[in-house]
Amino acid sequence: MTRRGKFQSVIGVFLFLTLVFIFEIKSFAANSSPRHLYLGLDSVPCSIFMEAQERGLFKDFHPPSKVIAPFPALSNYAWAVIMNTEKMESYQAKYYHFGLNKIVGRLLHEVGKPTYPNRFDFSDERVIKKILAYITGGGSVKGEMKQLGEKVLASNQPRLFFALIGTSDIVAHMKGAKGLHKLLKIVDRELVQIREEHFKKFKEPLVVTLVSDHSNTLKRGKIINVKKVLKENNFNLTKKLKGPNDVIYYSSGILSVANFFIQDTRKIELAHTLATQPWSDVVVTFDREGDVFLVISQKGTLAFEYREEKNEFRIRNLVGENPLGLVQQNLPLGKWIPQSEVLEASVKTGYPDSLMRIQKGLTPWRVNHPASVIVSLKPGYESGSKFMKFLSKLKGRSGTHGALAALESVGIISSTNYDFPEWVPAREVHKLIEGYDFGKRFEAMTLIWTGNGNCKMRFGQPLLDIPDIASVQFIIQIFDHQRHRFSRSYDLYKVKISSKRIQSSSLGNPRFFDVLLPKTPKPEVLFQLQALVLDVNGRVVAKLKTKRLTIMRYKGYSKFPIKKIFESPRKHLAWY
Ligand SMILES: [Zn+2]
Repeated sequence: MTRRGKFQSVIGVFLFLTLVFIFEIKSFAANSSPRHLYLGLDSVPCSIFMEAQERGLFKDFHPPSKVIAPFPALSNYAWAVIMNTEKMESYQAKYYHFGLNKIVGRLLHEVGKPTYPNRFDFSDERVIKKILAYITGGGSVKGEMKQLGEKVLASNQPRLFFALIGTSDIVAHMKGAKGLHKLLKIVDRELVQIREEHFKKFKEPLVVTLVSDHSNTLKRGKIINVKKVLKENNFNLTKKLKGPNDVIYYSSGILSVANFFIQDTRKIELAHTLATQPWSDVVVTFDREGDVFLVISQKGTLAFEYREEKNEFRIRNLVGENPLGLVQQNLPLGKWIPQSEVLEASVKTGYPDSLMRIQKGLTPWRVNHPASVIVSLKPGYESGSKFMKFLSKLKGRSGTHGALAALESVGIISSTNYDFPEWVPAREVHKLIEGYDFGKRFEAMTLIWTGNGNCKMRFGQPLLDIPDIASVQFIIQIFDHQRHRFSRSYDLYKVKISSKRIQSSSLGNPRFFDVLLPKTPKPEVLFQLQALVLDVNGRVVAKLKTKRLTIMRYKGYSKFPIKKIFESPRKHLAWY
């Protein structure tokens, strides 16, 4: 058995999970809306895409809208936000875990499998392929696009097809603007072909919408030295937080952002210390005592508050010059301002959507372990890991991303058929995706620990819609944080589905039913769940496997999204 984590709740823990379907669900929904391919292109800057259009590429696409990455502007975090997945452990695969008080996670995952629940119908997750791409200086986007084409053209289902091309991120890191232009040329050519074939084969057009998650500096920078400044100021760079002077800093990848972890006692002092460094652009932290977010630069300090119920900000205090340029845009001091107005003012500064991104990045909005202090680096500076430096040494490198500034945080959304607002924060992208009901499509199984100590398995409609379903077998695996893998020991549950359930199709309406598990699994931090769907003859008709599942603490229903998935959401049940 695994060690029980600190996060385990006394009352009971809820677990929220996502399914990755390894088969195609028979669709009961009417095919009235057009077939739509959403194609994620990691790390393609808005400016590069605009240049590509000027050069005659992406002729069928509307001019791009600007997608504003979350902060830190990192791929795993950004795609999780864009795809509106549930919470992750941290912004990246390697992270500091508060409960365990240590750095966990495999660095290799940084170049491989995503840390968010992967909901893409197509994405190449092979670690070896990505490492090879780093070594060879780019990898083959042509191969990736050909594979994508085969998958899209195999059938006209699913109607909404989600795909992610990851090679572009590696190309941006290693080959800069020139490499990206070459890559976009191939993507454009392949897309034209896929759309033509689609029309020929299915007698219907294929709508394509491109989304990129952030930008890239496209210029190699200098690696910062953090050790010296920490030592000079009596901070102790360490791997475990034992006292107020202990600081954790690590870098996975070469990034223009640096995350620090420290106890509260000297947190604000650390933020001010880091802000004095020549490589520091803005430093952000949350002052728990004052219930205020601090933005510190060499010019001045801005303190702001956020009121979630009303989605409003208030700039409480400003010392010196405004580090984000918001007050220059006539945002008043000391008054509550709606987020829409802050966003509008912010896009005129060099830091689009700054307050919201800082607030979200420093709180457990989407990650369980947000950093205590985040330094957004000035252009020309980078925070780097030895491993990535080694990999990129083989073929050289170009720029990076992560920082708050527009230069690194503005991606695109551009479609053959639709227009979008000029500026779109990443967290709003999923709302622009027509007809995409995340709940119905993916969130088909959930474990619920009840007040009296039992555990229920809740089935959602996608599972019931599988043709020939007669029974389901579940395997529940628990994540071992010590060894950083899922336990081999598991519990097997067999559940028969009543024929009444099977025969009544939902016709697209969300529906669920609960089954009490014969044995109550211990609520742990992370679970993995596998299901085999069997027909009446005991043949396997579908296999389902969840990706990483994060358990949330039981806090009534207020934060738990299950109601939103299975019933129409009520006001207080909104989960972001
Ligand atoms: Zn990315």
